[in-house]
Amino acid sequence: MSKLIDFAAIKEIQRKSRQGEAGRLRKEFNRSYRALLDSSYEEIRDNVSGYISSTGESVTCAKGCAYCCEHFVSVPVSHAIVATDYLYASENAMSAFLRSYPAWLSAIEDNPAAKAVFDKLEEDTTLRAIVKQSSEELRSAYHHFAVPCPFLVSKRCSIYPVRPIACAAFFSLTSPEFCLAENEIPVVHFQSVPSPAKLKRMSELTNYRLWAHQESLPKLVYRLLTVGLPEVSREVDKLFNTPQQPGEDDPRP
Ligand code: SF4
Repeated sequence: MSKLIDFAAIKEIQRKSRQGEAGRLRKEFNRSYRALLDSSYEEIRDNVSGYISSTGESVTCAKGCAYCCEHFVSVPVSHAIVATDYLYASENAMSAFLRSYPAWLSAIEDNPAAKAVFDKLEEDTTLRAIVKQSSEELRSAYHHFAVPCPFLVSKRCSIYPVRPIACAAFFSLTSPEFCLAENEIPVVHFQSVPSPAKLKRMSELTNYRLWAHQESLPKLVYRLLTVGLPEVSREVDKLFNTPQQPGEDDPRP
């Protein structure tokens, strides 16, 4: 089901994303968001170190172990913009993603059971679900299909400096094999999230729709690369049923 990737169109969308005032604001947004993201990762690392030294437990996650990268990962549009701009700056990561994406999508779409679970998770990651939260069972059902994230290259995250907070926040305290998709033994996790104040600051960097609406990371980044932010933004407006009014000038992305 994979279709040919139109590299020329992607380049053109990239060129437009840097143009004019919108391009300048996008650059500024990236700088601010990345600074908050870096300090979030640091905060998460500090929390983990504190937890380890106070409990004597060990984190079993290590380089080259990527079992957790078969989970469903969703992000706000704001985060996907930053991941997209990271790809624009890294030709290797960009071409690796574009090569892997069709196989990732086929692994989901060509398997009706996987697609049903994926679609349900996508539905649940809209604003409604931030309140509701997708059920653990649904996430665990998706994990059982063992579809590796298309950003995973040789068992390493190709967008590590801008990986989603969800990816950075979980640590296994049990043997790595317990994290395998086919494993039935419950994995013991330590989870750490950035402070609410930091998340609030991140949310304030874009208009609220682009922060409140989430989708699967690979799909959203692929759409930003292939149709561009103005189109994605319009689609998000429709979902919220509150299109930006003419004159309602929100200068943020
Ligand atoms: S974004 Fe990176 S860390 Fe997160 S699931 Fe994908 S490869 Fe793994």
